[in-house]
Amino acid sequence: MAQACARAGRPASEVNLLPVSKTFPEPVLREAAALGLHRFAENRPQELRDKSALMADLPLQWVLIGQLQTNKVKDVVRHACEVQSLDRLALAQALDARLQKEGLSMSVLIQVKTSDEPSKAGLLPEDLPDFMRALQGMSSLQVKGLMTLAVLSDDEQAVRACFRKLRECRDRLQQSGFETVSRLSMGMSGDFEIAIEEGATEVRVGSALFGGR
Ligand SMILES: *Cc1c(COP(=O)(O)O)cnc(C)c1O
Repeated sequence: MAQACARAGRPASEVNLLPVSKTFPEPVLREAAALGLHRFAENRPQELRDKSALMADLPLQWVLIGQLQTNKVKDVVRHACEVQSLDRLALAQALDARLQKEGLSMSVLIQVKTSDEPSKAGLLPEDLPDFMRALQGMSSLQVKGLMTLAVLSDDEQAVRACFRKLRECRDRLQQSGFETVSRLSMGMSGDFEIAIEEGATEVRVGSALFGGR
């Protein structure tokens, strides 16, 4: 990460590491916490809930980065400090309603579809302005930025284009008055260096930290 920052002429302090702990068991996470990692990302709501409960004795923060069905919102609101996979209005409404009920608020990133891969979730870039306007009435959701997964490809230019698209989405939103949408969560074990060169403020890294799954 430091080398990629240096190549891009960015201070290393600009890019955060978000460890992705999905599928790794409690002892591994306790070891990671002992090494100083305190924020973990999970892609399944149940796994996030279970791990958060098992390690409630540690001061850990949990971030959801995977598909969230509205019937799982209650668990996520109680156990996660952030959702990075907000991808539709119905989910935003369900999250906001539940947070209001519990007297809580939560930071969220909007997941954007930056490639043509049918399997990838996320809002289309052109739908972002309307989505942002719809979110403005939801006072318990603090929209902090955007998240994406790049196309899975050996073609570096294709991967880079996804990250660049996310940055451009963020810049356009900021220019149209949504200044608080500043974070860019992009890049994983295989492509985080490219993401940093394209402006990532955090990279979500699993296997490069914890080993193969
Ligand atoms: C699993 C996952 C990652 C991390 O993937 P690695 O290749 O293990 O680094 C990042 N983002 C999302 C959304 C994931 O599901």
